[in-house]
Amino acid sequence: MEARLEEAVCPFCSLACDDLHLKRTERGGVALVGPECPLARTGYIEAGTDEDLPPRIDGQAVAESAAIERAAALIASSAAPLVAGLAAEVDGVRAALALADACGAALDHLRAEGLMRLLLPLIERGAVQTTLSELRNRADLVLVLGPDPRRIAPRLIERALPPTGLFVQEAAPRRILFIGGVPETELAPHLSVQVIPAPTHRLAELAGALARLIAGKALPRPEIAGVPAARLAELAQQMRDARYGVALFAPALLEGAEPELAVAAILHLIQELNRTTRWSALPVAGGDGLIGASQAMLWQSGVPLRSRFTPEGPRFAPHRLAADRLLREREADLLIWISAFRPAPPPEASVPMIALAHPETRFARPPEVFLPVGVPGVDHGGAAFRMDGVVALPLAPARASTRKSAAGLLAAIHRALPMVAR
Ligand code: SF4
Repeated sequence: MEARLEEAVCPFCSLACDDLHLKRTERGGVALVGPECPLARTGYIEAGTDEDLPPRIDGQAVAESAAIERAAALIASSAAPLVAGLAAEVDGVRAALALADACGAALDHLRAEGLMRLLLPLIERGAVQTTLSELRNRADLVLVLGPDPRRIAPRLIERALPPTGLFVQEAAPRRILFIGGVPETELAPHLSVQVIPAPTHRLAELAGALARLIAGKALPRPEIAGVPAARLAELAQQMRDARYGVALFAPALLEGAEPELAVAAILHLIQELNRTTRWSALPVAGGDGLIGASQAMLWQSGVPLRSRFTPEGPRFAPHRLAADRLLREREADLLIWISAFRPAPPPEASVPMIALAHPETRFARPPEVFLPVGVPGVDHGGAAFRMDGVVALPLAPARASTRKSAAGLLAAIHRALPMVAR
């Protein structure tokens, strides 16, 4: 695929902005020219030069074929392998799923905690969700619940809430209201901003109180989580009056002992609103290819992430198959760590490790096998799903690179399995 520096798709968070202007720097480096985004700027800096780095076995540089053979041998002798991290573009994830299926591995993603907070209430009671395009074209009132989601998708509001949309006119400015969090960076002057101060860890109570008011019931106390009942009643009225409201929240950023309860309460609030008006939820997912991994897992296996491939078929176990727990409780005897977008360190593990990871990854100890991989959207192409899960954008490389993709290396390990198993 031809390298692209104009209108490039950014691989570094689940917003997948497609308007980046990049430039080449010395020794094959890539830098962001604009629009400004701290996460993208860091991602391109961390991608470094295009220097071809050798694979390593126990910290010693080796030929790629030797590293692949050693990785395949480790997998063949493992009784309970774990594929974790799983941070790759869609082709990389598909190759990882095929390998996991071949060796009976458990699968987890490095950002799955936030996904599980959403998935479990979603399985239980469903949700009314919307897309980024609908948010951009229709929303006249946006309620941001909890910490500012721009922490994980810095350009979210800039991209999704311009002054006008297909059904939003400049004469009626969009309103954005924060509860349980504050705007952490500047917002454009065309937005009318309100903040209701409240503790983030009490969002479940606040969303529950709003749902009660929307259902026409009185609140049991004069204040809920420090917010006066009269202020909540005013907010409930604003929400009822909206033409198209959207609740934005980042499940991974929610605090408190049981953040999934807050997610469940937010989804319930939106369902209550839809009895009489039109509201939707838009959960903001973390990056590292989480949404692509989640979609690929669902269409390939029929079950969500945090599942294990067994001879009876894939089994979903969201709590038991968390990578940290499997490693801590020694229920995995091999870690296959995949992290292509950024140098994310693997979890603490005393078991052997095969790492297909960003060249700048720092390890607490040298992995048994380390195969440095290229960064999707920098060293090679691929596809990246947006946070709303409905659009996959094509990633083009930003430089001619000799770095291998995680997809290619995982497929090579998969092909070598029968040879080492003989
Ligand atoms: S918001 Fe996300 S996708 Fe957009 S430029 Fe920043 S890191 Fe890239």
